[in-house]
Amino acid sequence: MTKFIFVTGGVVSSLGKGLAAASLGTLLEHRGVKVMMQKFDPYLNVDPGTMSPFQHGEVYVLDDGAETDLDLGHYERFTSTNLSRLNNLTSGQVYLSVLTKEREGKYLGNTVQVIPHVTNEIKARIREVAEQMGDGVIITEIGGTVGDIEGLPFLEAIRQFALEAGQGNVLFIHASLIPYIKAAGELKTKPTQQSIAKLREIGISPHIILARTEYPLDPELRHKLSMHCNVPIEGVIEARDVKHTIYEVPLKLHEERLDDIVCRMLHIDTPQPDLTRWRSFVQRVINPTHHVRIGVVGKYIELQDAYKSIYEALTHSGAANDCKVELIKVDAESLEKAGPDLYLSGMQGILIPGGFGDRGTEGKIIAARYAREHKVPYFGICLGMQIAVIEFARNVCGLKGANSTEFDSASPHPVITLMDEQREVVDKGGTMRLGTWVTDLQAGSKAYEIYHSATITERHRHRYEFNSKYKEQVEEKGMLISGASPDGKLAEMVEIKGHPFYVACQFHPEFLSKPNHPHPIFYGFVKAAMAHH
Ligand code: GLN
Repeated sequence: MTKFIFVTGGVVSSLGKGLAAASLGTLLEHRGVKVMMQKFDPYLNVDPGTMSPFQHGEVYVLDDGAETDLDLGHYERFTSTNLSRLNNLTSGQVYLSVLTKEREGKYLGNTVQVIPHVTNEIKARIREVAEQMGDGVIITEIGGTVGDIEGLPFLEAIRQFALEAGQGNVLFIHASLIPYIKAAGELKTKPTQQSIAKLREIGISPHIILARTEYPLDPELRHKLSMHCNVPIEGVIEARDVKHTIYEVPLKLHEERLDDIVCRMLHIDTPQPDLTRWRSFVQRVINPTHHVRIGVVGKYIELQDAYKSIYEALTHSGAANDCKVELIKVDAESLEKAGPDLYLSGMQGILIPGGFGDRGTEGKIIAARYAREHKVPYFGICLGMQIAVIEFARNVCGLKGANSTEFDSASPHPVITLMDEQREVVDKGGTMRLGTWVTDLQAGSKAYEIYHSATITERHRHRYEFNSKYKEQVEEKGMLISGASPDGKLAEMVEIKGHPFYVACQFHPEFLSKPNHPHPIFYGFVKAAMAHH
């Protein structure tokens, strides 16, 4: 039988609702429960692929090529679920589908309305996922904050869904803020009371409150929350800020017996979870023996969320190497102005992440040159590979003005060009080369040594590619195309011979790294950085 948990958020955004949902997923999986995770996003974009990182943070790409919310990254890292495009539903998708049906005459004769047509569409998606999954628990996070106008159809849909699924099969969890008022020296429950009152107005009465707080909740406060919010006392869960790493969240919530209570409320009979491996991972993150400094040169560097999966992948690989990865975030444009020494001397590794548009690219090219010439371990991801090629073409092969046609359409040496299949594409939504593709690795290459394998599959998100007309020229000078698509047409990995670690890939390995399964390139990069002094 399928059980359902819906997680809503109250008072403010950025409460860590996604992390809390993912952590509950971790705990349930460790109890032997099959888990599926998904997110409903109330905005009208069909997917976040067309939004700037400034608006939305990272776009997380799934195996099937879906461009999704970054919370899906937490879900995949915290659980063993492999998500698909079914698992991120936006209002945009819902309305697109309803309006397409309307034009096709599927509702002929009827007035098309939010209730029931939009809500039915949402419920149909929940059922579709449930059918695919069978026995187990589906955790659905509702994006936004209770009280937002655009979130209402989702809340109405899950209210109806709970009624139809029957008691004991559905749980509502409300993650809410308990602010600390310094002047009064007190934690305040009123905003949460009001947020829950709003939910109850809609007809949803949460079973559990995840009380986000900077300070411990005393018994009196728990009692107050329970009474005023109509939640059983054992359902008041303290979700206090964790000290060191987000991977502590499942452990903290387990201490609060969240998984026990959820299983009891949903009548799932399971043993206590064995969290030994998770604990030891957390221990290795918190208390490593070694230390390494890695510079990430990007253009959205001031944004915590823009390169989320990359930062997480570095944490996983740090733990596996018993090493603290100190991230130095370098703004590519500032580097371009001030030169590399100020920002890059003292770095043991340099990573250039993906990106779009030409702002900051010259700074990244300077950073790639610095890494090559100073033999600092280099790891280029997507745009970071294209940058490596441009730099090598200009400064080693002597191809003056070499560039990507994305940045300079009149470049005399377009070493990076639009992929053939992209030339006719005009629409911007979901039209890049996306999702999982196979790469063949060259025997004897660094790439092969890293993966111990001749073929790999990785997730992609790009429109431009290495221009194969320049293959001979760069290879002659020592840059090896070490990975390519099976038809040999697309360069997927490049490396520089004789450099301790200069590896770049056209795909996004950061999406496949997990706490206890660090991604091999990240692992190799951190290891090489540790060896660099
Ligand atoms: N802008 C480049 C392209 O479209 C790189 C994309 C990326 O880094 N994700 O190919």
